[in-house]
Amino acid sequence: MTSYKELGLVNTREMFKKAVAGGYAIPAFNFNTMEQMQAIVQAAVETKSPVIMQVSKGARAYANGTILRYMAQGAVEYAKELGCPNPQIALHLDHGDSFEICKECIDNGFSSVMFDGSALPYEENIALTKKVVEYAHAHDVTVEAELGVLAGVEDEVASEVSHYTRPEEVEDFSKRSGCDSLAISIGTSHGAYKFTPAQCTRDPKTGKLVPPPLAFDILHEIEKRIPGFPIVLHGSSSVPQEEVDTINAFGGKLPDAVGIPEEQLREASKSAVCKINIDSDSRLAMTAAIRKYMAENPGHFDPRQYLKPARENMKKMYIHKIIDVLGSNDKL
Ligand SMILES: [Zn+2]
Repeated sequence: MTSYKELGLVNTREMFKKAVAGGYAIPAFNFNTMEQMQAIVQAAVETKSPVIMQVSKGARAYANGTILRYMAQGAVEYAKELGCPNPQIALHLDHGDSFEICKECIDNGFSSVMFDGSALPYEENIALTKKVVEYAHAHDVTVEAELGVLAGVEDEVASEVSHYTRPEEVEDFSKRSGCDSLAISIGTSHGAYKFTPAQCTRDPKTGKLVPPPLAFDILHEIEKRIPGFPIVLHGSSSVPQEEVDTINAFGGKLPDAVGIPEEQLREASKSAVCKINIDSDSRLAMTAAIRKYMAENPGHFDPRQYLKPARENMKKMYIHKIIDVLGSNDKL
């Protein structure tokens, strides 16, 4: 049993309280490589931002949960070394799908877990979330729950159709489950292909897809029913078109990849939305930099040579999100 407190991590309670009151959102960046971790920490330290480093089931399978936990501990020490004496870093389990996996993470140093019972019947979702909450709170770990279903593919979380969160359920759900934050579905979606061309319009000038707007009416209705309760948005990468263009220019093939426009995420950040999940944008930034480097330097074979610009490009993206989209800079 390792408490996250021994690792220098924090849970999300204070972060969310301040974010809701201050009208900004905490970035939740997924990570599974050392370069992502370094870029996240450098960006958070340079912008003086709290940050949630999150780990999906796929990340645990790829990198090993134990290694990721030590990487999160390393992230705290690295932030201190970079000149941040009291970093606010949470280690969060993304999409935990059972009580057992949530418990395992809590026992191994995670400071926050998500129990995703969104595919379950309503009462079962409440009962299982509550079970996770009881165990987590006994260890001062915070719990994110989910109501409503997001479309898209994220590691092993996949759904073809989305169901918007029903605002009439949120008060009962949050009260009875005891969760600390609630992920809702208002039109965001997992992955780099958030919308089919049929769901979008096409910009006549650029030929790029223009996605449908988020359901802000539902978000506002939810806020009215549970004022000040921390809301989470999953699937909120913006799929920057310059990264997609770079990937496609250097041998990639990502036609019609499309995300959530950043101005909508900026608007959401000012509301009770206090955690915004970004994963695909980091993957795109990394891949774009590597593809470009490889094409321009065909004789190079040292991974450090191409991972360095990849790390730089991710860091640039993280800093942009923190300052220009979420507004979590200078909040330490
Ligand atoms: Zn998600």
